[in-house]
Amino acid sequence: MKYNTISMAFMSETCTDFYICDINIFSFSGVRKKVIKSGEEKYDLTIVKNTTKSFKVDMLCPVCNENHSFLIPQSQFWSGTVYTYACPNYEANVLFIGENSELKKTVSEYLDEELSYMGKSVLLTDTRNAESLSKLLILSESDAKYATICDCGKADIAYNDKFIYFICNKCGKIKRITYSDAEVITADFDF
Ligand SMILES: [Zn+2]
Ligand SMILES: [Zn+2]
Repeated sequence: MKYNTISMAFMSETCTDFYICDINIFSFSGVRKKVIKSGEEKYDLTIVKNTTKSFKVDMLCPVCNENHSFLIPQSQFWSGTVYTYACPNYEANVLFIGENSELKKTVSEYLDEELSYMGKSVLLTDTRNAESLSKLLILSESDAKYATICDCGKADIAYNDKFIYFICNKCGKIKRITYSDAEVITADFDF
C-alpha cells in the first residue's frame, strides 16, 4: 500500500516522549529539504530527498548526543508500514516512520514497555552487573561528567536488572545504558 501522507516520530530531548509529525508527498514538491521542528532547535529533524530515490533523515540523538543519519528508500518511506530506527550506540529506538494510527500505536507500546521497566527496582543477582554498577557509581562520584546527560548538571542513577538509567530531576531527561555499556565506560579505570 502506498500513502500520500505518512507520519514520523522522533525522540524528544527528555528521551521519554516522541514528537510526531505528518509528512505529505507534496511537502517535497519543488523543495528537497524539510526541517521538522522539535521543542528545542538543536533536536529538529532534517529530511532531505535524494536523487537516488531515497530520503536522508538527520537527527541529533538525545540519547547519545551524536548526529545520526538514516537512509530510507522512497518505497519504504511511503509504504505506511511502521519502520523503527535505533541509536547505533545504545539500545534505544529514536525514530519511527509509518501510517499515522499504526505508528502512534507502536510508539506508545514502546514507551509503555520502556517506562514500565524503569519503575521496577531489583536486587542485582548478577555479580558482574553489580560490579559494573558500583564502579560506575564510584566513577560518577569522583567525576560528575560520568553522570551528566544535560546542561542541568549531575543526574541521578537508577537501575533494574536490565538497564542503568541516568535521570535528571530538573529537566526530566533520561538516558538509559546497558550493563555492558557500563563495563566499557569503567574498563579503563583502576578501582
Ligand atoms: Zn544515539
Ligand atoms: Zn537536565
